[in-house]
Amino acid sequence: MFVIGGIQKTTLLDFPGKIAAIVFTQGCNFRCGYCHNPDLLEIKQICDPDLVSTSFSKEKLLSFLQSRIGKLDGVVITGGEPTLQSGLYDFIKEIKKMNFAVKLDTNGTNPSIIEKLLNDNLLDYIAMDIKSPVDKYSLITNSKVNIDNIKRSITLIINSNINYEFRTTVVKNQLSFDDFNKIGELIQGAKCYYLQKFNSLNVYNPEFINMDTYNDNEFLFICEILKKYVKFVDFR
Ligand code: SF4
Repeated sequence: MFVIGGIQKTTLLDFPGKIAAIVFTQGCNFRCGYCHNPDLLEIKQICDPDLVSTSFSKEKLLSFLQSRIGKLDGVVITGGEPTLQSGLYDFIKEIKKMNFAVKLDTNGTNPSIIEKLLNDNLLDYIAMDIKSPVDKYSLITNSKVNIDNIKRSITLIINSNINYEFRTTVVKNQLSFDDFNKIGELIQGAKCYYLQKFNSLNVYNPEFINMDTYNDNEFLFICEILKKYVKFVDFR
């Protein structure tokens, strides 16, 4: 199974240093209130007309990527949650054969597939969401969360030899300054962490439309907290 929710044919922003296409997989096991891709959460075949002009089967997508060899450097696989797709491994293998660099975005709930992909050198960059400190994970994701899996994914990524980032979407009333100390402890020793300003456009839970994020000065303060634990910290 590899259910594609949509594609973006080019991005200069989502894969550091690379011109890439983005593949959005369909389905997620979390229900974060601030999610910007609410149409991608249910497992069903859809196509977002804003993202694609026609429906994309896996075969059609592979043939599109084939046509982009020499024009694109890489492919970003995001969601939804890509690691829910049983066909993810084979799909990545096929695009690696075309010599594309691969970036995987994940919520870290499936460490086994992350481990397999890392062991087989099939990833060039991995971005993992850190939703919150451990004690708030279920609240923020509105889901039952196996924290051992989250911790295992963090360890695998920190110990990998590829470029990576951890990142947290920050809604002001969900995460206190002290929570960032706890997040720092969770990813202690990591090399790269981004705080992401929450944006209230197109959110999964309409209650979030009126919610806010911290201001720039507050973000600078939070960055200082995180720098005790992580080599590079920034906000965007
Ligand atoms: S923000 Fe990410 S992990 Fe959360 S519901 Fe949306 S796609 Fe899933």
